[in-house]
Amino acid sequence: MTLLTATDFHQWVRCRRQWKASGGPFPRDMTSEVNLRETARTIATGQALLAGDARDLLPDRAREENVPATVRVLRAGIAPEEMLGWAEETAAAVARGEAFINGLVLSGNLALVVDWGYFHGRGGGWELSLFRPATGLRGIYEDEAALLLEGWQGQGYPLAGLHLRYLGKKDRPDSSWSEEDWRGLFRESTLTGRAGKALKRVVPERQELQDYAARDRDLPADYRCRQGCPLCEGAPAEAPEGRYSVLTLHKGRHLGRDLQSRGIFDLREIDQSREKDLTERQRRQIDSVISDRLFIDRRGLAAFLGRLQWPLFFLDFEASSQSIPPFQGLAPYEHTPIIASLRCQSEPCGESRPSRFVSLPGTDQREAFFHWLSRAVGDQGSLVVFSKPFESAMVRQLASVAGEAARGQALVGRMVDLLEPFADFLVYHPGQCGKVSLKRVLPLFTGGGYEEVRVRDGLQANFSCTRWADQAVASGSSGASGSSGAPGSPGARAAEGVSVFLEGALKGTPRRDEPYLASQEEVCAYCDVDTRAMVDLVEALARLLEEPLS
Ligand code: SF4
Repeated sequence: MTLLTATDFHQWVRCRRQWKASGGPFPRDMTSEVNLRETARTIATGQALLAGDARDLLPDRAREENVPATVRVLRAGIAPEEMLGWAEETAAAVARGEAFINGLVLSGNLALVVDWGYFHGRGGGWELSLFRPATGLRGIYEDEAALLLEGWQGQGYPLAGLHLRYLGKKDRPDSSWSEEDWRGLFRESTLTGRAGKALKRVVPERQELQDYAARDRDLPADYRCRQGCPLCEGAPAEAPEGRYSVLTLHKGRHLGRDLQSRGIFDLREIDQSREKDLTERQRRQIDSVISDRLFIDRRGLAAFLGRLQWPLFFLDFEASSQSIPPFQGLAPYEHTPIIASLRCQSEPCGESRPSRFVSLPGTDQREAFFHWLSRAVGDQGSLVVFSKPFESAMVRQLASVAGEAARGQALVGRMVDLLEPFADFLVYHPGQCGKVSLKRVLPLFTGGGYEEVRVRDGLQANFSCTRWADQAVASGSSGASGSSGAPGSPGARAAEGVSVFLEGALKGTPRRDEPYLASQEEVCAYCDVDTRAMVDLVEALARLLEEPLS
């Protein structure tokens, strides 16, 4: 028997072709793994806070292997006997009227996890809860609740209510929080009525999914939507290579699709006088690509470089974020800085001196972090960053924790955002393909690149920082803020359980030849390349102004 899960259903509803192409029950990209980690973290935290006295129905083997129920159920397709035993345990708990966590209901061949259930005598049935790592109500949870409603009642079990428990978006736990306050982090929304109404839509979709899975049928060849993914469209025969594609238009994906639908695939075919929706930046991009020449707004670039005050401090943070705030004062998913790379350059084209701060995994060192930064940058000179909103938020957070908000504001006031000349199209290289990221502009303007470092982007750095912290909490080696008795520690163990399980299950598959988890040295090296890149870019921009007008 091939068992399906709520994840199958969500994928199926979103796009049947992508569901068919997903290649099995396990998430195979980092973003999906992050989502699964945060789901496991939220469920484990919610269960520990709200359902501490309930019986855990997770199969023994899964508990021994520290595999959260959300992940275990993804094994539905390969371990149906375990699923049947798990569902029988759940039925037995229901028969006893015993409160439980991690129950399993089988609805046909659909396996559905119940995060928490208890019998409500006055309500005449069971109160079922799903803990989810969102900060608001989302449609997919309504669908999941509808599937659970159908599955639960299909077993003949009485139901009093179906509840979604999600995270308060603006809640910021601090050291004064009691356990009751922590419980309040989980908002509750009753979905019974909405789930009932959704059944009309969900049941036929569920039935169709099960039919397709049972017969392994092909989708109709004309199944596609307007998103135009390569999976459906392939590379259009008329599509030009790289920089000439209309899909490269800066922030113009929709416009690019619209142009393609009118048979225009190449930037060189666009009649700018007729395309009123083109932005000024897109017009600069087209002109640069057609002429194959760098675009420079000399006055604008000179004004930008004129704002730099020497000495220059090139600053970059690597941060982590997670659903359950690990340190006081953070809201769900708010980033917190873990590593900083800093380079000081005293004069134009002079040597730059590197330094860095690296926090102990899982330990709140933000106060020491801020004092290090404040000392290192002194009172003079610009702080050069790439994307000021993020870096300034990190500095403000550190300053606030250190009780030095005014000093933090002063540092933010000294920041100059090196993204500006690229985002404002004061300079544009025809090879940018509409992008303005540091990784895109660095090789084009300086010849440098990221080939030497294994970490490929900020997401991988964030993922790694978060895992180090979870590993420290899970092993009990972190400081007080992340200690094993803290409210976030069951979640840290569950999130880490997800990654360890997936590493084993996907070993040797193409996406897992290279582990996502990077070492501290590797993330530091990546952060250092970012600051080195900014030094080189400032010098490259200054050289552009020295070149004679052509
Ligand atoms: S374009 Fe095709 S693959 Fe992409 S979402 Fe639409 S149907 Fe799915």
